[in-house]
Amino acid sequence: MHELSLADSVVRIAGADAAGRPVAKVEVKVGHLRQVVPSALAFAFQLVAEGTEVEGAELLLEEVPAAGRCRGCGAESELPGFPLRCGACGGLDLELLHGEELLVDSLELEDVVMTNGGTRHDG
Ligand SMILES: [Zn+2]
Repeated sequence: MHELSLADSVVRIAGADAAGRPVAKVEVKVGHLRQVVPSALAFAFQLVAEGTEVEGAELLLEEVPAAGRCRGCGAESELPGFPLRCGACGGLDLELLHGEELLVDSLELEDVVMTNGGTRHDG
């Protein structure tokens, strides 16, 4: 169950950002190619979060569509699944642009909101 290791990463990142403050909501962006089953990730998240700042937090998943640039013809296309194939010429030699993300997009603490790269407000 690879969702468990993904959930573990999410909880570690969120926990580090929260720095001891209770987390109300975690928004996560997951690339399509990671083939995450949302319900499995939500379940694993609850397990891993137990006993941490993130325990009881709501998990919001946003899937990022996979996209790549063809090294043959230069076209960029969306990649709905495997095998990864250029939408213009059918070539298989692609530079992956999106689809392997796993990032904590934002955290909502009990009384403040933090966004990655944004300003932190310490209540
Ligand atoms: Zn192509």
